[in-house]
Amino acid sequence: MKEECAVLGVYGSEEAAQLAYLGLYALQHRGQESSGIITSDGEQVHEHRGMGLVSKVFDEKTLARLGGHLAIGHNRYSTTGMSHIVNAQPFLVDCKIGKIAVAHNGNLVNAAALRREMEESGSIFRSTMDSEVILHLIARSERRAIHAMIADALGRVQGAYSLIFLVKDRLVAARDPRGFRPLCIGRLGDATILASESCAFDILGATYAREIEPGEMVVVDERGVESVRFAEPAPRLSRCIFEFIYFSRPDSRVFGENVDKIRRKLGRRLAEEAPAPADIVISVPDSSNTIALGYANASGLPFELGLIRNHYVGRTFIQPRQAARDWDVRIKFNPVRGVLKDRSIVVVDDSIVRGSTMRKLVRMLYAAGAAQVHLRIGAPPVTHSCYYGIDTPNRSELIAATHSTAEIESYLGVDSLRYLSVEGLRSCVDDPDNYCTACFSGEYPTVRNGVHPKDIFEHGCGCGGCEES
Ligand code: SF4
Repeated sequence: MKEECAVLGVYGSEEAAQLAYLGLYALQHRGQESSGIITSDGEQVHEHRGMGLVSKVFDEKTLARLGGHLAIGHNRYSTTGMSHIVNAQPFLVDCKIGKIAVAHNGNLVNAAALRREMEESGSIFRSTMDSEVILHLIARSERRAIHAMIADALGRVQGAYSLIFLVKDRLVAARDPRGFRPLCIGRLGDATILASESCAFDILGATYAREIEPGEMVVVDERGVESVRFAEPAPRLSRCIFEFIYFSRPDSRVFGENVDKIRRKLGRRLAEEAPAPADIVISVPDSSNTIALGYANASGLPFELGLIRNHYVGRTFIQPRQAARDWDVRIKFNPVRGVLKDRSIVVVDDSIVRGSTMRKLVRMLYAAGAAQVHLRIGAPPVTHSCYYGIDTPNRSELIAATHSTAEIESYLGVDSLRYLSVEGLRSCVDDPDNYCTACFSGEYPTVRNGVHPKDIFEHGCGCGGCEES
């Protein structure tokens, strides 16, 4: 599974751009492809966006140019739209109400259909992003107040969105009625901070106030923070359970829960469901560290650092001629031979998608002297693609969709492979019926009148004729 996106907003600080920059730094794990900040002093709007990490996109000079007491920021991992600067967010347009910018986390499942409809009636799109569809819908609204125009637009879109708009002298944040993606509010003195995860508040010294509710819109301006309900929350929410397994940082609070706490529970439950005859537990760092700690704790086996991750790996395009076998995994991970040699080990990872990286890792562990490798996954098998903002491959490329556990065990070359059960996963969160688990179960929460999200998402037609393949 790949990352998604991060959104951030700052209102009421003369250092809005600097705060947004630091907040985006803390949220870098949610997207590394591009980053951007748009600021306003209530009159003038300034923007800077670029490809790559936050540290590469911004420097002192660019931040100094981003004046104003309002800012919104975005880190992108492309899920819809190609990898290109025109698709880097936040996205800014000029329309009848002046300049309006948006930062979006999520995927609109009906964006293609809406886009086609608007193009047929004369709209011209600048990017391939689904977020631009929302701005066009706002521009077409006949309502007068900005929050009513945004509510009008959101009434037409389906899918996952946590949004922060910057409209001249105010910020407006909104979360879809199913609450797929997280979005929370914090306070820093007189300033208001909005962020995908609370770890962005910690870096700023801000305090967590609360989550924005599904179907809630929050308007932040000189009068303070006003809450407006633009839609009733869905009777069953669809909060993405993968936020706890992988996407969010363990030091964050997401959906009102402490991620570290849930991740440890996943590990404990995994140990109960899938014990292994082993000497030590190791994790695939960093995302699986906390699940592995939970596993070690419940199993009574010692937790060891058997794999070291190189944190300074950017995108690597060149395959060296003399490269060793599995160089792409070696560049990221290195085994600690003294820990692994002649040991029977439990390796804990958060998920298996295609299986190719894990296969190379397992080879590396045996080459380092491991006597046995028992692979334990802190999530059920990923058997279905996500249409709600996570970059999962086509179903045919998901190894668990096309192979049995025994076949995967043999492909990976492990002594044993076990997953956490769907029930086990659900038992780790309060209120499990209010979570989306579609990538494990295929039960997509947005299926309407029998129309699968794949039909709407890929074909833009809602034809209902395309079975998930
Ligand atoms: Fe999250 Fe999976 Fe649902 Fe996508 S399909 S929103 S990754 S739980």
